[in-house]
Amino acid sequence: MEERFIATKYRTDCYQCKNITDQAIRAVPYQAKVVCSSCGGTRVFIPKNEDIAKPGQFMKPDCYPVWSLSEEALCRNCGKRGPHELSIGCRVFTVRCENCGFTHFYKFDLEYIAESIADELV
Ligand SMILES: [Zn+2]
Ligand SMILES: [Zn+2]
Repeated sequence: MEERFIATKYRTDCYQCKNITDQAIRAVPYQAKVVCSSCGGTRVFIPKNEDIAKPGQFMKPDCYPVWSLSEEALCRNCGKRGPHELSIGCRVFTVRCENCGFTHFYKFDLEYIAESIADELV
């Protein structure tokens, strides 16, 4: 059983198929992923670094409106379960603990169209 850190979804227009649809969001320590439930368009992000950070510190101007979400998760740094800020753009994906500021920063790695959306979300 792998560690499931973040598992949520966000309803917005897909950058790929342009439909308003649920984008499934998954993050574990070694990978973060966004999958369109309509077209299977998948973006994979890989860890770049992790550190104590201020809100928005790792975000740079991005080519796509950045999604800002809040999600319950267990922080590896302070050990508390509580709200984490998710910021997802087309190049960056960050998860930040609101309690201690510990931030996982992932950078865009690759994108593809998933043949089976269910397979992407296990
Ligand atoms: Zn789509
Ligand atoms: Zn924390």
